[in-house]
Amino acid sequence: MKKVKIKSINYATHDVVHIKTAKPQDLTFVPGQAVDVAINKPGWEEEQRPFTFTSLPDDDDLEFLIKTYPVHKGVTEEIGMLKPNDSFLIGEVFGDIQYKGEGVFIAGGAGITPFISIFKDLEKQNKLGNNKLIFANKTFDDIIEHEFFSKLLGKSFINVLSQEDKNGYKQGYISKEIIQSQMENREAYFYVCGPPTMMEAVLQHLSALGIKESNIVKEPF
Ligand SMILES: Cc1cc2nc3c(=O)[nH]c(=O)nc-3n(C[C@H](O)[C@H](O)[C@H](O)COP(=O)(O)OP(=O)(O)OC[C@H]3O[C@@H](n4cnc5c(N)ncnc54)[C@H](O)[C@@H]3O)c2cc1C
Repeated sequence: MKKVKIKSINYATHDVVHIKTAKPQDLTFVPGQAVDVAINKPGWEEEQRPFTFTSLPDDDDLEFLIKTYPVHKGVTEEIGMLKPNDSFLIGEVFGDIQYKGEGVFIAGGAGITPFISIFKDLEKQNKLGNNKLIFANKTFDDIIEHEFFSKLLGKSFINVLSQEDKNGYKQGYISKEIIQSQMENREAYFYVCGPPTMMEAVLQHLSALGIKESNIVKEPF
């Protein structure tokens, strides 16, 4: 495990922290990938949890967006209380999500994190193309990087809220119809990341829409 110093930590939403750390010189990753992280404090060094890089591989620092779950009494609650100059121990880089071609990105909650790095990369390369993002959250206040995606994608950014009825936002869960409305053709790629129950429902919709397994890129959170 490598020690990396926390440079800044700020709340990005009511329960998500944005953390910037120093970056080891030899660290490389593909946008969408994650790394095992532990807190460098007595009693926490062995408690590794996976978090996704939301920065780009060439950036000077590493960035993370981490949803805190105080109810778990685990690592994320403790992460929410860290301060600059505390440090993380980071391990192996891994993860199945990476960009393969144009398509529909479907995220639930913190499952947006791999797509942040991917979309930053597409923006940088001027290759946003016809990519779409469907993002499911409980309420408007839970939407991570709302401004970034709104500016970047405009009408190709579709928000679905399960516990709030808001003008201009779809209400309920991600349905087969919502996916179909964003689908240009069955040969597009479908990127899915979120909590297991959301993933299960979305994968069933994709199967009902006739999407081949080989066109689905996924990772449960
Ligand atoms: C590849 C990958 C990348 C990830 N990247 C990110 C990221 O960038 N940002 C991010 O925010 N998250 C990310 N996650 C999810 C993140 O790793 C988990 O949220 C984190 O490990 C939870 O740690 P914890 O110690 O707080 O909870 P843990 O104690 O590890 O709890 C883990 C799971 O146990 C269950 N659980 C435990 N206690 C309770 C309870 N009291 N009530 C209900 N359920 C409970 C929940 O299902 C919970 O998800 C990623 C996950 C994966 C697999």
